Parts: sequence; structure tokens; C-alpha cells
Amino acid sequence: MAIRTGFERSQFGEHGEPIMSTSSYVFESAAEAAARFSGESEGPIYSRFTNPTVQIFEKRLAALEGGEACIGTSSGMAATATLLLGTLRQGDEIVATRNMFGSTVNLFKNYLPRYGITVHWADGLDVASWEPLVNSKTKMLYLETPTNPLTELGDIRAFADLAHSAGAQLVVDNCFCTPALQKPLSLGADVVIHSATKYLDGQGRCVGGAVVGSAELIDALTGFMRSAGPCMSPFNAWVFIKGLETLSLRMNQHSSNAQKLANWLDQHSAVRHVYYPGLDSHPGAELARRQQKLPGGILSLEIEGDREAAWRVIDAVQLCSITGNLGDARTTITHPATTTHGRMSAEDRQLAGIGEGLIRLAVGLEDVADIQRDLDQALAKV
Ligand SMILES: *Cc1c(COP(=O)(O)O)cnc(C)c1O
Repeated sequence: MAIRTGFERSQFGEHGEPIMSTSSYVFESAAEAAARFSGESEGPIYSRFTNPTVQIFEKRLAALEGGEACIGTSSGMAATATLLLGTLRQGDEIVATRNMFGSTVNLFKNYLPRYGITVHWADGLDVASWEPLVNSKTKMLYLETPTNPLTELGDIRAFADLAHSAGAQLVVDNCFCTPALQKPLSLGADVVIHSATKYLDGQGRCVGGAVVGSAELIDALTGFMRSAGPCMSPFNAWVFIKGLETLSLRMNQHSSNAQKLANWLDQHSAVRHVYYPGLDSHPGAELARRQQKLPGGILSLEIEGDREAAWRVIDAVQLCSITGNLGDARTTITHPATTTHGRMSAEDRQLAGIGEGLIRLAVGLEDVADIQRDLDQALAKV
């Protein structure tokens, strides 16, 4: 499925998927052009909303997520913006938590209210605490699980039940697990959001995103895409297609490396706490076993120290890369409070539990012994 879905060979019999780099398409006649534009005849018109290479990516990701259809977008944030602007209207309400990707929080907080869309903020991922925030105007529950950077877990099935009881939809950002480790639609979610920039690419080359859901939803979003234009480039789609081919192998390895490091860090004297769903001490450990195939490649550690100590550790790494990105073959190390979550207000950060001594690791595919050696010498700087 990850390797062949969505691709049909052309007259050349090519074995790999070609990059169809064209902005527009030629028609046989004026009548054919009219039929394509009116939707009477099927086929591409313009690469803002249909491109054959992007379509291979869309079909393949939809198949992997178990969804009817998918739309590729220019970034993960474009996927979220396309979903929100393409489906919501003035007066609608959303429930979400601050404990999610920083730009998603900013989009919800700084922009949605301008369009008359109210966001209700829940404190964490305990479904009972969301219940009082749901009402007849609620159109969407927006969930990220596991969360960034604290790897908090939400029970997708329970959130789906709550959403449906109010006639709302459950949206899950599946960026951290990918369909290789978690399939939200099979647990009752209605829509899946991806930043393809992360694990779907897997080697830190391109920015892109996707929405997966019902054919009806994706059809509506295609209409929005045609009018608004946050589309995926064919080259980027091709990179993501190649990424999907090895997704499952990579996710298994990211997770196995992260588990080994989490076990070791958990015993390290310079580390106060490790956040990783694969540790029995994690409050979501049982849920992780139930709804994820493996705990995943992201872990965070709270060191025995403040911002200065955290920066000393980060500055001391030699192998790991200091970067905000994640989902790369290379291990990345980040200080969330001053980078990925730096634009949040200090109060919001505190509410989300993101302290100054917190360091996030997106564990890569290097030999785990090499990563451990690098972190061990860096943690000596605490
Ligand atoms: C990176 C990320 C996004 C946004 O994706 P971009 O491709 O950077 O726009 C959304 N959600 C999560 C969980 C992310 O990590």
C-alpha cells in the first residue's frame, strides 16, 4: 500500500513515479476545455488544484490512513488553515487545548476570533474536562496526540464519542505517530491532519501537509483550494511519495531508538523527568499500548536545572542537530520554551507545562549507541 498505491504507469512503462512539473494542461478542443472547466469531463485543469504527482501522494496517504480521500497542501499549517477556513463559518465553535503545536495555537488564538469563530481552551487531554466546553455550536474538537513536546496522550475513541454526541467532528493531528503507528480514523476520528514536513518526508527536505477525510469533505476543500491556493508542489509531493515507501520501517526504528534512550535517560542523574509514552511511569502508557502500534520517536526530558543549564546541554551536543524540526533521520534537539513554543505567552507556556529546563529530542535513525554517547557527554554540562 505504501509502495504502489495511486500510481499507474504511462506509455513509457516507468518503474518509479514521475514528477509532473507543469502548471497547466492542454485540451483537445475548446469544447473539451469547456467540459473540463465545468466538471463534465474528468481530468486536470491547473496545478493549483489538480496535479498527477500530487494525486499519487494523496491517494497513497488516504489509503495508509484508511480514509476515503486526501488533499495535499503547501505545509502542515496550510492543511489546518484549509480545513478551518474551508469548512467553518462565523458563529461556529471549536474545542482544543493549548498543549499542541505552537503555530496551531497561534492560528486558533490570533486569527480565528477575527472571523467570528470561538475557540474554547481545555486544560489538557482528559476528555471529561472537554465535555463542559462542547455545545450545539461546536463544530470541531481538535486533538494532537501525542502532544508536542510533552507527549501527553488523548483517548481518540473517547474524544470521537464526545464530538459525535454533539454533532461535531473530531480532527486529529497525526504528525507524531503517522499512520504507521496510529490510525485515528479507525478509532472514530473524522479528519486527520498531517505536516508532511516531518516523518512523511523523513529526511528534512521539504515542507508540505495534508488533510485526510471523507470524499465529501475533501471535495469541499478542493473547492477552497481552487479559490485560495495553498497547494502542494509536484516536486514536494514526489519527495513525500518516496518518504511513504519507507515510512513504516523508519517509524519502527525511530521508536526503538527512542525507547532505548528513554530507558537510559530515566536512570540518568542529570535528568529529573523523562516524558515518553513507552515508559511505565508515563500516565498514558496503557493508552499508548491500546491506540498506538509503538510509542514513537519523540521524547522530552526535564533536566536538573534552569534555562542556562538546558542551553549548556544543547550547546554541548556534537552529533545531534540544534533545530526546531522533527521527524528527520538525524536526531534533533530543541529548547521548546525559547524556540518552537517561544511565541506563546509565558502564562500559556506555564499552563501547558513547558518549563525552562525542558529539552525535546526527536530521535533519529543513527546508531542508538552514538546518540547515547553524544547525550551523555552533553548532560555532563548540567
Ligand atoms: C510541524 C507541525 C505542524 C505544522 O506543520 P508545517 O509543515 O511546519 O506547517 C503541525 N502539527 C504538528 C504536530 C507539527 O509538529
